Amino acid sequence: MISKQEINQIADNYNPKDIKLATVCSHSALQTFFGARQEGFKTLGIAIGSIPKFYDAFPLARPDEFMVLKNYQEIIEKADELIKKNVVLIPNGSFVEYMGALNFRDKLNIPTFGNRRVLEWEADRNKQREWLEQAGVRMPAVIKKPEDISGPVIVKYFGAKGGRGFFVAKNKEDFYTSIGANPNYTMQEYILGTRYYPQFFSSPFKRENAMPTSSGSLQLLSIDRRDETNIDEMYKLGEVEKLRKHGVIPSFVVTGNVPVVLRESLLPEVFDFAEKTCSKAKDLFDGMIGPFCLEGVYTDQLKFYVFEISARIVAGTNPFISGSPYSALTFKQQMSTGRRIAEEIRYALSINKLKEVIS
Ligand code: AMP
Repeated sequence: MISKQEINQIADNYNPKDIKLATVCSHSALQTFFGARQEGFKTLGIAIGSIPKFYDAFPLARPDEFMVLKNYQEIIEKADELIKKNVVLIPNGSFVEYMGALNFRDKLNIPTFGNRRVLEWEADRNKQREWLEQAGVRMPAVIKKPEDISGPVIVKYFGAKGGRGFFVAKNKEDFYTSIGANPNYTMQEYILGTRYYPQFFSSPFKRENAMPTSSGSLQLLSIDRRDETNIDEMYKLGEVEKLRKHGVIPSFVVTGNVPVVLRESLLPEVFDFAEKTCSKAKDLFDGMIGPFCLEGVYTDQLKFYVFEISARIVAGTNPFISGSPYSALTFKQQMSTGRRIAEEIRYALSINKLKEVIS
């Protein structure tokens, strides 16, 4: 793993007045570039293959400069060039996934916003569960083998991109019909209810407009729900079960996001889970810095079950580029998660503590 010491040495040579924020042009990049500019930073877009033409249609978010590379691995080779430009990288879902979480953690020696040690805990579903369960967060039960299926379960393949290939089974026969040849899966109780994806921001600093925690402070910036194809619209074709024999298999592939708000009476529990997640992160790997999302389902018993954590900016923050119903209660100005990242870096620079928010 790239050591904190190594990154600190690089950051020591950065000119604090000339920091550039950079990310890969995908996922939540437009939001990140726009937010960085709102906070007065210069921006650099890493484009894989070519500069995305449609960025011309979003001049306020188009980065100040581009670096065009053949593939994600080439970012590692360009480290010196990026460091010369005083770059702080902002990880996003595409960046981490296409580069590979372990490559990101072990080979990318460029100052990066957040604690890169979170990657090993986030990238592996078993470690995620260890972290969240130890924290005291409610999760769907794990079903160890098909013979133990006694109600609806969801089967998830390791490394499946965006929920592709996930399937729901109600008994072991369903399971064996759909499992295919891939042996790398996890199976958990399917939680019936409404999905919510609350997006928090964890700061190592005690900020005035945030809830104090044992590891710093916490804000809720927004909540979305994902549009997932084809599961969301399947009911229009009639009984989902019967569709299987016509080759129509439910999938959970994310195509977009819609804003939602929670009943106010449900907020204490999600805040409690978020706080405990941060506190356990502090014990396990010296803390989670920046945005994270607890992805879960509320049942009709009003219990929140978290099925996944993303410990970085999620694309579900994109509906909130001009702020959310929650950020409006926290900030005087419009605040997206992308802007909040830049604001945190700006604040850390102002108190001479950049090193506390990068790794
Ligand atoms: P994940 O890759 O874990 O985020 O799961 C992808 C999608 O599958 C989620 O956005 C949910 O729609 C659905 N899902 C995952 N786990 C569960 C669960 N335990 N119960 C119900 N739906 C789930």
